[in-house]
Amino acid sequence: MSRPMRVAVVGAGPAGIYASDLLIKSDTEVSVDLYERMPAPFGLIRYGVAPDHPRIKGIIKSLHNVLDKPELRLLGNIEIGKDITIDEMRDYYDAIIFSTGATADRHLAIPGSDLPEFYGAGQFVGFYDGNPDFSRDWDLSAENVAVIGVGNVALDIARILAKTADELKVTEIPDNVYDTLAQNRAKVVHMFGRRGPAQAKFTPKELKELDESPTIEVIVNPEDIDYDAASEELRRASKSQDLVCQTLESYAMREPKDAPHKLYIHFLESPVEVIGEEGHVTGIKTERMELTGDGNVRGTGEFTIWKAEAVYRAVGYRSDPITNVPFDDENAVIPNDGGHVLDPETAEPVPGLYATGWIKRGPIGLIGNTKSDAKETTDMLLADWSAGKLNEATKRDPEEVTEMLRSRGIAVTTWDGWYRLDAAERALGEAEGRERKKIVEWDEMVQHAGPEYEI
Ligand SMILES: Cc1cc2nc3c(=O)[nH]c(=O)nc-3n(C[C@H](O)[C@H](O)[C@H](O)COP(=O)(O)OP(=O)(O)OC[C@H]3O[C@@H](n4cnc5c(N)ncnc54)[C@H](O)[C@@H]3O)c2cc1C
Repeated sequence: MSRPMRVAVVGAGPAGIYASDLLIKSDTEVSVDLYERMPAPFGLIRYGVAPDHPRIKGIIKSLHNVLDKPELRLLGNIEIGKDITIDEMRDYYDAIIFSTGATADRHLAIPGSDLPEFYGAGQFVGFYDGNPDFSRDWDLSAENVAVIGVGNVALDIARILAKTADELKVTEIPDNVYDTLAQNRAKVVHMFGRRGPAQAKFTPKELKELDESPTIEVIVNPEDIDYDAASEELRRASKSQDLVCQTLESYAMREPKDAPHKLYIHFLESPVEVIGEEGHVTGIKTERMELTGDGNVRGTGEFTIWKAEAVYRAVGYRSDPITNVPFDDENAVIPNDGGHVLDPETAEPVPGLYATGWIKRGPIGLIGNTKSDAKETTDMLLADWSAGKLNEATKRDPEEVTEMLRSRGIAVTTWDGWYRLDAAERALGEAEGRERKKIVEWDEMVQHAGPEYEI
């Protein structure tokens, strides 16, 4: 077998970076090209994690150690499947790992979901996290807002809507985001979950810190604190779920706090319709649910209309397909057996193609979960290489692929380039006494992180 093994990892989010790291650390001699569609790496750590979570954003620093390694080369500002086809990639690499994550919002088909103020959480996240693919403007004129969903993304949305712009100014948010948030008129935010507290998808820390903002009062109706036998079992089985329930109980029992923004977390209320008048959202209708003993719920036929001029759905993300790579449209993942990409017709592994991260198992789980996921995938790849199961690439010199990219006029961004972009963002932040201020424009990012050759 030709040494080193040449691997392309497609998507420089945490899953792709951890997979690259594991390959480099293995006993096999390997050289990895890490491709990224955006001009900057780090996926949803940069463009998903909320700006007021600096500790989580700080994971980027620990990932520097991986990207500093000479066996790993970052090739950014390249969309695989569009700028280079998968067939072409196969000439240059023995194996390709897809770690393309997810950025789109899942739909929620309820009446009224076509109204203009019915938003996907991901769209709002894209706005406030300065993702150049998303709107630079946001209508924050609603005083009453509803958020559908009781997971961490719903919490992020509700928290950002309920905080003041000045509380967020210390973070990395760009000027357009601060200026827009300063116009935010939201006073009341309602979150809705159709099941009970024991089925909420929050993590304890994120739920607890919600209350730390002096401008937010978190309110839970004591009648929503309900557990059936399956819920009790869930609490016993999971310390984390039990902590979530304890925190929700404490919110339900305590004295009112004098804070200007009210954030209600409702359980056992299933959103059934977005109410509109004259083409605009005016409310949300929910049906009261009851637990059925097994952790599921059934409708009681009792309905409530809540005032809301904007409704956000935080019901999950959805991955996009990559041209000429198998895709399971129903589950929005690449079909796989825990690592190998599977041919949907034969259910057999497609030689040399692998998947990891959210594109492999769907948009669930934290950054840390992508690590164990990457291990499963890279173990399969390394075993296949050792067993001689891969079709070897014909163009093995790493310079051949960069020459091809250059000949196509692609302004490839690099790891050295990331250091320049990073320094530029830090300098912008320092001038205002904060750690960093994000650069949003695609072209401006490429100017900093782009190639040192003429296009
Ligand atoms: C709003 C939100 C907030 C979150 N907050 C937290 C948090 O606080 N803590 C936590 O632990 N987890 C959090 N998560 C979860 C965490 O972000 C994910 O677990 C993790 O990012 C998934 O990693 P990934 O590498 O699979 O995907 P991603 O992070 O999505 O990375 C995929 C990368 O692939 C690139 N890509 C896509 N298509 C192509 C292509 N065709 N060619 C080249 N590149 C491509 C994308 O640009 C992206 O950079 C949050 C998620 C969301 C959505």
